[in-house]
Amino acid sequence: MSGGPSRSPEESLRTRRFRLHWGDTGLVSGDIYRSGADIPADGRPGCPRRPLPERLHKGVVHDMVRLQTALPERYTTARPDELSEWIGEAKATLGSRLLILGHHYQRDEVMAWADARGDSFGLSRIAADQSEAEFVVFCGVHFMAESADILTGDHQQVILPDLNAGCSMADMADIDAVEEAWDVLASATDIERVVPVTYMNSSAALKAFVGRHGGVVCTSSNASAVLTWALGGGTDGGSGQGDQVLFFPDQHLGRNTGFALGYGHSDMAVWNPRLDRGGLDDTTLKSASLLLWQGHCSVHQRFRPAHIDAFRAEYPGGLVVVHPECSHDVVEVADHVGSTDFIIRAVADAPTGSVIGVGTEIHLVKRLDDETPDKTVVSLDPLVCPCSTMFRIDAPHLAWVLEGLVAGEVRNRITVDEDTAKWARVALERMLSTV
Ligand code: SF4
Repeated sequence: MSGGPSRSPEESLRTRRFRLHWGDTGLVSGDIYRSGADIPADGRPGCPRRPLPERLHKGVVHDMVRLQTALPERYTTARPDELSEWIGEAKATLGSRLLILGHHYQRDEVMAWADARGDSFGLSRIAADQSEAEFVVFCGVHFMAESADILTGDHQQVILPDLNAGCSMADMADIDAVEEAWDVLASATDIERVVPVTYMNSSAALKAFVGRHGGVVCTSSNASAVLTWALGGGTDGGSGQGDQVLFFPDQHLGRNTGFALGYGHSDMAVWNPRLDRGGLDDTTLKSASLLLWQGHCSVHQRFRPAHIDAFRAEYPGGLVVVHPECSHDVVEVADHVGSTDFIIRAVADAPTGSVIGVGTEIHLVKRLDDETPDKTVVSLDPLVCPCSTMFRIDAPHLAWVLEGLVAGEVRNRITVDEDTAKWARVALERMLSTV
């Protein structure tokens, strides 16, 4: 981690308050944060194949391989104002041929150039609706750029400014491991009654897998409706598509949604892809309503109930809102749980003067605080919790891909092969017709 930015005498009270809440770590949007925690997926479509001798899900530790080539010195040594000038000029030159999408967790220096902000699925739909744009620069992570490629037309090219911007959660379930799990389930239970459900935060290959096997994609907004469609129940008590769900890659979203729908501990089991037969006996494989893949988001899993206790001690009457990728013990003691869009609405709807403790990625939390001056929005975690892979997208990489487009060179294009895209679309369209 680099040293923190210098502090000017003009530093605002709000900025000081934010720094203090963070234990004065000095890390704010724009800092460079390097982490070895993220490991790009093996052979992501559109990316060079990673030369791994063994598979990650078998527990083999390996060195990270950088997919992204080093940027030319022109970009790595440029001052922020030079980068802004280059990005602005390239954007103006490309005009309506270009659409820049910014995920809520992006840095401010990137978000400043976004034509639209949103969550992963919302941005993909915006890309699909903007058919005029020939180039879609997706400032987010790899699976999001894949989804955008799946949903956009053949005349549109999707670009990810840094190929190393993966998602550590998405990488916790790869297609080989999921196919193995499916084969084991087929040997232990009636596979025709198992519905595979993948979270939007997954590779195109997994979305295609669920499409081929009668399953569906879900988002953090519609996971309840999707599980009700899969397993039945709900307000009309109707029957579902099956008796069991294999849910991947985020165990927490699956568990939190299961509890919210009335399932108990004994109805759920965790499939550990590092263990033989997921570490489960045949009775459990046959009886569990929800088989939850042992994956998690390294950002949201950081939040603990103790953070909420500390927030409430400091701000009696404060409101606690967390994302459903947080663990269940955190969700249980929060005031509200919901998707990124839900969190944004909760802050907007809170009365003037409210103090809101939020359990999600820090760039969104800080932006909400900056953009709602009549309220105080703080991270529940006093330490730093940026998404290190989202953080890879920065002004130098954005300038590099945009200047490439101006020069007629498409850098870092993300493509999904036609068959994978076709089945992934089936799973996405099933979701849209379900909820
Ligand atoms: S915040 Fe978590 S789920 Fe989202 S991109 Fe980062 S690692 Fe993946």
